[in-house]
Amino acid sequence: MYSKKFLKLIPYFLVSISINTISQIWAQNIYTIEKISPNGLITVSLTVPVDTTNNKNTQLSLRDDIPVTKKQVINVRCGHTKLKHDKSGNWLLPTTCNKVTWQVKPELSDNKPIDLANQLTLRLKKAGWILFSESSSLLRIKHSESASVLTSTNNIPLLGATSTLYGWAIPPVGTAPEFYIIGQPETQQKIIADLPVTYVIDNPQQTNWSELQALHQKTLRYFTTILSLPADLPSNEKSLLLIWLGTEAKNKQVNGAAGRRSFIANYIYERNHRISTSDNMHSLLVIAHEQFHQYADMVRYKHPVDTSVWIEESLAQYYALKSMQKALSADEFEAIKNKSLSQDQNIYFKFSEIEQQIKENNYKNYSLLYSQGPKFWYAMDQALLSSSQGKYGLDSLLPVLINSDCQNGQLPAAFVQKANEIGGNQINNLLKQYVQ
Ligand SMILES: [Zn+2]
Repeated sequence: MYSKKFLKLIPYFLVSISINTISQIWAQNIYTIEKISPNGLITVSLTVPVDTTNNKNTQLSLRDDIPVTKKQVINVRCGHTKLKHDKSGNWLLPTTCNKVTWQVKPELSDNKPIDLANQLTLRLKKAGWILFSESSSLLRIKHSESASVLTSTNNIPLLGATSTLYGWAIPPVGTAPEFYIIGQPETQQKIIADLPVTYVIDNPQQTNWSELQALHQKTLRYFTTILSLPADLPSNEKSLLLIWLGTEAKNKQVNGAAGRRSFIANYIYERNHRISTSDNMHSLLVIAHEQFHQYADMVRYKHPVDTSVWIEESLAQYYALKSMQKALSADEFEAIKNKSLSQDQNIYFKFSEIEQQIKENNYKNYSLLYSQGPKFWYAMDQALLSSSQGKYGLDSLLPVLINSDCQNGQLPAAFVQKANEIGGNQINNLLKQYVQ
């Protein structure tokens, strides 16, 4: 959108040459990292697009599709005027305001374990850079459908996943979030199956991460062989940014969060000695899990689907495990497979029930998606393989599964139909036991 009234004032030749550029800039919400104070406060500004400044009742808020555990945005201002937020956390934008600024107060992550799943902006003092998480740090213009970009001034180094003409792309509300780096960490670039991957690791001196990096590459390569990317995926949408933060083994907390073209994940380290193989495998499982989410987002590209939390989480966990067969020795894989699939065969809740609980904000059985979930998909995989004499497993149905809508916590109808054609009664029994 652009203002026709303003365009009339521009000489014709300029309009004819630059109309595309002008409309593109005006249609963008441009966010700028303006300043980092000595104590780590980040000043961010949003240049309000021309079509929005004239609107009454324009509201700003953090994206509402990702619940944040902590408010990191403070001092929201237009010029010298401090803006107030209402009870729901919305800031009303004055009609004359064309630039809003605020500050982001990062969590200090050096001395305490931090749950990455909370998607907070973190300041890593020792590493000397900031993990900037848009879902907890950027105020969005409510109901704006314009594209958004993140940029910086004053020579502040900024790294994102998807580069555009005007800055690093910011995903729209309703899609996966994105993570950025402020500062200049050591980075490593690799091309994996045609995908340019940038690794940012908080402590590149850790002995275990380079091994993890090689293992991760094998899991990603495997995902590219079972799910192909859409032909119209632009090259700038293929670059991935992977951010790995160490967590000491004694913390017993390994987490991650997947973004659109970036993801964050913990890796386990020991302060004074080499970590155990099983800890390293645990790190790889988390990394491969987030990588599967992120890769699935790329496969869906312009066609996001209505899916269920249980399908997304259990499938990412099963495929993370499955991908490890490509990365580990036979013995190592057997050990982690047995640990994940053999213990406790009880089915505590059906997945449609857990999905309903999640809708009601009841997360008490959420962890079953990571334990009971892979067991279900493994049984499904085996049933498909055995009834087709090894011809079709879950891999062959994965494109249908991840590209189809589903309802009420059930599997997509197109997937169920195809699975039934191959596995008949065995499939129906599994669905009755685990899903319906
Ligand atoms: Zn997940």
